[in-house]
Amino acid sequence: MVDLERIKKETFEKLELSHRNPGVYNGKWENFSEKDSISIRSPIDGSDLGQISVATQENYDKTVKILKKSFEEWSQVPGPKRGMLIKKISDSLDKNKELLGRIVSLEVGKTSVEGQGEIQEMIDVGYFATGMGRQIYGNTIASERPNHVLYEKFLPLGIVGVISAFNFPSAVWSWNSFVAATVGDSVIWKPSSKAALTSVAVMNIIGRVMEEENCPPIFGLVNGRGSMVGELLAKDTRIPLVSFTGSVKTGRHISTMVSERFGRTILELGGNNCAIVSEKADMNIALKGVGFGALATAGQRCTSTRRAVVSEKIYEKFKEKLIEAYRKARIGNPLEPGVLVGPLIDSEAVRNYEKAIEKAVSQGGKVLVGGKIFNEVQTGNYVEPTIIEAKGDMEITKEETFAPILYLFKYRTLEEAMEIHNSVPQGLSSAMFTTDLREEEFFLSSRGSDCGIANINTSTAGAEIGGAFGGEKDTGGGRESGSDAWKAYTRRITITKNYGKELPLSQGVKFEL
Ligand code: NAD
Repeated sequence: MVDLERIKKETFEKLELSHRNPGVYNGKWENFSEKDSISIRSPIDGSDLGQISVATQENYDKTVKILKKSFEEWSQVPGPKRGMLIKKISDSLDKNKELLGRIVSLEVGKTSVEGQGEIQEMIDVGYFATGMGRQIYGNTIASERPNHVLYEKFLPLGIVGVISAFNFPSAVWSWNSFVAATVGDSVIWKPSSKAALTSVAVMNIIGRVMEEENCPPIFGLVNGRGSMVGELLAKDTRIPLVSFTGSVKTGRHISTMVSERFGRTILELGGNNCAIVSEKADMNIALKGVGFGALATAGQRCTSTRRAVVSEKIYEKFKEKLIEAYRKARIGNPLEPGVLVGPLIDSEAVRNYEKAIEKAVSQGGKVLVGGKIFNEVQTGNYVEPTIIEAKGDMEITKEETFAPILYLFKYRTLEEAMEIHNSVPQGLSSAMFTTDLREEEFFLSSRGSDCGIANINTSTAGAEIGGAFGGEKDTGGGRESGSDAWKAYTRRITITKNYGKELPLSQGVKFEL
């Protein structure tokens, strides 16, 4: 049995956290205020992890003003030098990886390896951004006029707002922030109130590097409730871009507020990810891929596998083996070695799990395994991972329930599988398990997966940072992290330069003055 109290004490001491932490950073920490604070409880055992004070309107305004000033200075620093600051931040995160990973586990209930993985993702995207500092490029385009040059430049935008979800309490912030800072922006972060402690631990480390490097404070933090601090940020015309990660419902609301003022958004909203398992799949890979996708982070990933559509030719065998794997998966304290499934974030999530199962059964679904709250470990929010055999067009399968519930479908033809796959409003991640090239290419064609992310013979969950991450339809259309996602954090300026002795006009227009 791991000694949770000892882990907490040691982690808090080493990361310089206390029971009462200020939640606003703008180059300096604002004082802790008794008046308004968020209480953090660990989903592992319900224990008190402390309090984080939230931003007042005054704190918020002060932070935006400081970040605006930082932007003016920072945007003049050459890209490769900006990249080097992000490298130093990543080095420092790397040194503190284990401790930070533990905070993620304590606060949101991820297993040790997943907590560490979350921090590794920050480190990876940091090194990616470091290289990117030398790769901020634009096109040169052939001009139709003699002695003219036509080209484009990508300039920094200003202050980028990042509102993040609880389930990736730091990685998603870094996808946005490290890339945005490398192109020359400053960043204001409003984390989830359910994951405020992680934001304080991360900002402690990053703040120290900014100070040591004499860098203006380009990363600011404003903890607070979505309905207050989140709305301030969404409505603030000083923030040209808001990158929002969260549910479809909140994303729709944010999107309306930001577009009302002609601001830009990057929306990373809910998923309802599906894996198609063909009779030509490598059964072992498919079982592991679907199992990992559905069970990891207790089904609380935006990319969690929520539906599996399996060929009728292998359906019974696949079903049997998957149930067997579910029965073996250890549920419990996520810091215990060997545990695969930790708790849900809170009691509301547990209620949503129960409600979804009730609805599924009332709509004709059959619970094959799981289906109940798991009471065998210490108090907390543990539930049994569940597989439900889905019948026909069950409405509940179109919704994202943030819990380990997998709906199992059977298909006869690939067209039928694709129809089930694409029949939901969300469009984040997808997977096909097959060893047949034709099936694979069909899945990746315009008649195939309608998602932003498509995987062959690997899970819907667990994307690498090097690719652009995001989804279509109700998932919001945003792209973050790798590839050319950096362009979203810039403004493009198209430049025409005449170095001749005449003034020829485009489209051959004559205008004799
Ligand atoms: P949520 O929508 O409840 O909250 C997300 C953030 O929005 C939080 O910081 C919250 O405080 C803030 N917020 C709430 N109301 C607000 C308001 N009125 N104005 C401004 N901000 C407000 O989501 P959650 O429960 O924290 O996270 C789970 C959801 O996030 C799931 O739907 C999951 O699929 C999605 N998610 C998507 C991605 C992705 O990349 N597509 C990644 C992680 C999570």
